[in-house]
Amino acid sequence: MRKLTSPFALVLSSVIALGLTACGPSSPSSGTGDKVSADGVRTVEITGNDQMQYSVHEIKAKPGEKLRIKLTNIGRMPAQTMSHNWVLLKKMDASAVNALAMSAASKTPDYLPADQSSILAHTKLLGPGQSDTVEITVPSEAGSYPYICTFPGHAALMKGQLIVQ
Ligand code: ZN
Repeated sequence: MRKLTSPFALVLSSVIALGLTACGPSSPSSGTGDKVSADGVRTVEITGNDQMQYSVHEIKAKPGEKLRIKLTNIGRMPAQTMSHNWVLLKKMDASAVNALAMSAASKTPDYLPADQSSILAHTKLLGPGQSDTVEITVPSEAGSYPYICTFPGHAALMKGQLIVQ
């Protein structure tokens, strides 16, 4: 017995299928927790944990869009050994990202490199249970903008891409 035979039901099921595709296995973390506030600005909520993992590795946005990025450290380890931030960088390749992370590692207390010209936006460095929100204007040029946590040693795992399209 088939119930989904009316044209409406077929359209509905394709919409559902498309929706599932949009946040399917290819981008397991995009779209989770996005909220649009009363002023129309979308907030992307990202967590960082004691396993050095961001919950979101890919953020898709439109050129010039305003976005709020809310990072929460959901870990329990002490801040001296496990803190997180979210640092959005200019377009650069993986080796340049690594070099920047290396130069940031010695810059206490916030682990931001002395030369911040490659940084488009960043949150505060967060200890366990803390969160911080930064509002950004998405770059007007399409492409992939890397983001990382600059706490020493974290950028190898804690990284993602802001995809402007
Ligand atoms: Zn981190």
